[in-house]
Amino acid sequence: MEVLYNSTRSKGNPVKASEAILKGLSEDGGLFVPDHIPMLDKSLRELAGMTYQQVAYEVMKLYLTDFTEDELKNCIDRAYDAKFDTDEIAPLREASGAYYLELFHGSTIAFKDMALSILPHLMITSARKNQIKNEIVILTATSGDTGKAALAGFAGVEGTRIIVFYPKNGVSPIQEKQMVTQKGDNTLVVGIHGNFDDAQTGVKKIFSDKELAAEMDAKGFQFSSANSINIGRLVPQVCYYVYAYTRLLAERKIADGELINVVVPTGNFGNILAAFYAKNMGLPIGKLLCASNDNKVLYDFFRTGTYDRNREFMLTSSPSMDILISSNLERLIYRIAGEDADKNRELMSLLNGRGVYEISPKMREGLKDFYGNYADEAETAAEIRRMYETCGYVLDTHTAVASAVYQKYLAETGDTAKAVIASTASPFKFTRSVMNAIDKKYDSMGDFELVDELSKLAKVKVPNAIEEIRTAPVVHDKQCEVDEMKDTVREFLGI
Ligand SMILES: *Cc1c(COP(=O)(O)O)cnc(C)c1O
Repeated sequence: MEVLYNSTRSKGNPVKASEAILKGLSEDGGLFVPDHIPMLDKSLRELAGMTYQQVAYEVMKLYLTDFTEDELKNCIDRAYDAKFDTDEIAPLREASGAYYLELFHGSTIAFKDMALSILPHLMITSARKNQIKNEIVILTATSGDTGKAALAGFAGVEGTRIIVFYPKNGVSPIQEKQMVTQKGDNTLVVGIHGNFDDAQTGVKKIFSDKELAAEMDAKGFQFSSANSINIGRLVPQVCYYVYAYTRLLAERKIADGELINVVVPTGNFGNILAAFYAKNMGLPIGKLLCASNDNKVLYDFFRTGTYDRNREFMLTSSPSMDILISSNLERLIYRIAGEDADKNRELMSLLNGRGVYEISPKMREGLKDFYGNYADEAETAAEIRRMYETCGYVLDTHTAVASAVYQKYLAETGDTAKAVIASTASPFKFTRSVMNAIDKKYDSMGDFELVDELSKLAKVKVPNAIEEIRTAPVVHDKQCEVDEMKDTVREFLGI
């Protein structure tokens, strides 16, 4: 059955998957959502006998219904190949009574690679299907990981350009080095004087600038987004939850149909939303544990039903979760409002204006499968230390937030269901914070010295992504104010 995509902010005009991928964001500022969530059409047992690529096809074909089998398989094969340093693509690692789903084996060692290694292929295929002649300009705001993963995906891809805005003082040294050393004539990396929310709001504003869009079209350009607001990011993320379940089943860790819990370190709410979609496709998931760092706006929301972004923005050791406006939550709000675009638009305009909205008791019932909690900086560091000391497994800071929240959940509920914890980055991406958590003595060492120490400690080879940037020259040094983002885009495109 065909799946069409509606905007979360207005009724009517549903578009095909390929059109939604090309547009990124709907013209009314809403996000594209499937008109229904399709059910898995293969049994869990059948899926348990498949490779990652095969599972990805079985999931994605249900959402991207205007892609042919050849088109989709071609995209999947080009994405999930030797760029990943393991054939399993997303291996599951058992440690201290939980299963860590390692989503960081792609080229930039964060989970963003899971979707961004396929998005460029989905986008080019979509452009071809829709007879698009314009060059596609990917505009991206990043809290650190999306930027590099998108750059790696789109660099050198013909018919595309990519512009990445990141908060100049809001990413880790390794994250920044990864981005500013990015090669490729079609790439631009800009540090903005503001935080991630400023970058994301600025990008959304440029997207909905109709005048600029017309001007761009006249010059042969059109925007799209590589942010997790793009449905082409969300759909590939559903696959690894299905894959994780079927791995547990294949390894006889669970019985067919047994409920598992999923724990996700959350920022923009994309990753956990993908798990929610997987659950609604019939995957036996019990609770969805939403883990936040000190920017605990989502924890407060799940606890009170009020979303309030009016608070201090905290810079933490898990920068990819330093977010107060979780864009993808809008897709959940729309759903629990009974797919009522008017209601959702009203709430989003409150968020835009006063920065706060409250959902009704009826809507809150729709959140019953979620559990929210958070880990502060000390708890996160303590969890890294605990895991290292008890089982020698070194977590990155983001995964540690999730792991700490899972421990809190266990203590509160005693729920013994098996848990899959989304492990969203390699510890090598946040080396200093990770090593300091294990022992303060490391703080005096240089960034790359620390990398070598971590390698010894964790008994893990230094990933290629890190080796590459040790000596790579900086090729991007542009900075701008938040209100200069649009001019920066114009300048790069020469319009
Ligand atoms: C992006 C990111 C997150 C947050 O994921 P969302 O989909 O934005 O909620 C968590 N951890 C890491 C390492 C990330 O890069």
